Amino acid sequence: MKYISTRDKSLSISPTMAILKGISSDGGLFVPKNIPKIGSLKSLIDMDYKDLANTIMKEYFTDLNEKALKEVIEKAYDKKFTAKEIAPIKYSGGVYYLELFHGPTFAFKDIALSILPYLLKESKKVNNEEKEIVILTATSGDTGKAALENFANIKGIKILVFFPEKGVSKIQKLQMVTQKGDNTFVVGIKGDFDDAQSGVKKILNNDSFVEFLNDNGYMFSSANSINIGRLIPQVVYYFHSYLTLLRNGNIKDGDKINFVVPTGNFGNILAGYYAKEMGLPINKLICASNENNILTDFFNTGSYDKRRKLVLTSSPSMDILISSNLERLLFLLTGKDDVLIKRLMEDLKNEGHFEIDNLNLSDFNAYYSSEKDVGSIINDTFRNYNYLIDPHTAVGRSAYEKYKAETGDKTKTVIMSTASPYKFGKKVADSIGINTKKYDEFEILTKLEDLSNISVPKDILDLKDKKILHENKSNKEDLEKIIQKYLKVGIDI
Ligand SMILES: *Cc1c(COP(=O)(O)O)cnc(C)c1O
Repeated sequence: MKYISTRDKSLSISPTMAILKGISSDGGLFVPKNIPKIGSLKSLIDMDYKDLANTIMKEYFTDLNEKALKEVIEKAYDKKFTAKEIAPIKYSGGVYYLELFHGPTFAFKDIALSILPYLLKESKKVNNEEKEIVILTATSGDTGKAALENFANIKGIKILVFFPEKGVSKIQKLQMVTQKGDNTFVVGIKGDFDDAQSGVKKILNNDSFVEFLNDNGYMFSSANSINIGRLIPQVVYYFHSYLTLLRNGNIKDGDKINFVVPTGNFGNILAGYYAKEMGLPINKLICASNENNILTDFFNTGSYDKRRKLVLTSSPSMDILISSNLERLLFLLTGKDDVLIKRLMEDLKNEGHFEIDNLNLSDFNAYYSSEKDVGSIINDTFRNYNYLIDPHTAVGRSAYEKYKAETGDKTKTVIMSTASPYKFGKKVADSIGINTKKYDEFEILTKLEDLSNISVPKDILDLKDKKILHENKSNKEDLEKIIQKYLKVGIDI
């Protein structure tokens, strides 16, 4: 298996090099040269999550030996997940929820970020790479904490996280700024997620800065879903969902199912598309957005136009206007037209928009939801079905209701439940009629706990008394400076 760049398909590297590099030096993203096919699903039916992960990942990470991959998977999916299935499925109100938030930071990012550090370590070994890896991570809230938690104290790797100062929830921010670990560094950016992400991409593509750090014994990589080592582990839970429904007799072998995916950077839903290309019987992938409805517009018109204001919503992990992984989908849907992709991405960067017709987008449906929709869906799900969902998942269920009303489709459907409701307690509590003005963030969580009978994760309650360890702030223009300062390299020190 080789990986090629979406902007120059003659550029071809090994899986472990793609993981190490994170992004291609031409600005493109690495994609598998061909998406592998999975044979009979029935033969996978008795596998647990780890065996399934192994079956899928070995097709993509072909230069990791069998033993190394097995160990990586063992270390990733251990007791730090509180659910033995890793991702349990709940049925509620006529739809299935795949709960992806039972990892250490209570959001779906844990599924991929618990494995990425080990994949990186092994990739270093395979390539005899001696340099210390510096992971640059832009976060809309959840990636940051998941990366910090999973990379903390891993030798040979430093983890640097940039989050938008005003764009994350209170709990998300506390989770990050209280992070322990000598190799962790957290910076609040004066801007939004797109500023943080484009700042990071710019550094990764700044040849002279990269070279300067190489000379000082460092090598950059990324923990964002632009890294293929983040994306591929997410393919696994699509198969896991299908096989769980099959095992439980909810579907028959070969039946198609729908997935609804609360979407921001387009990583999760793209993993679903890869699963479909591998042979998983998927009917529709339903792309759910919040008020930042740029993807809804794109799927409905073929025009991707970021000349609009980013809105801060109660689902901050989806407050994104530049959905990086869409580039990977477009590459596939245009028959791997790297020249066209390069032009479209340049248009987006320079003009703020691109247009493309004649794409077959029939695998997807797209809907968006207002804050009001999200509130009433959280309330409905709780009052009528006694199930508490977070605002991101609510964006998903709201999209599903719109899809059903529009199409009448009765295909069995799985909604990706991407975060614990306790991570976004205030919106959840407001939505179900708790008067949140009377309480602080932590009292709100206890109120929710009393009502729902599901306990608040201890790690969230403990945040209340944790020491703030990171107080760095930066403009998006000054990221190089602050990196040099942290790494103690360069002229200014
Ligand atoms: C990151 C995130 C999303 C969006 O996922 P993408 O892969 O960026 O599209 C949705 N919900 C939650 C809770 C997240 O943390």
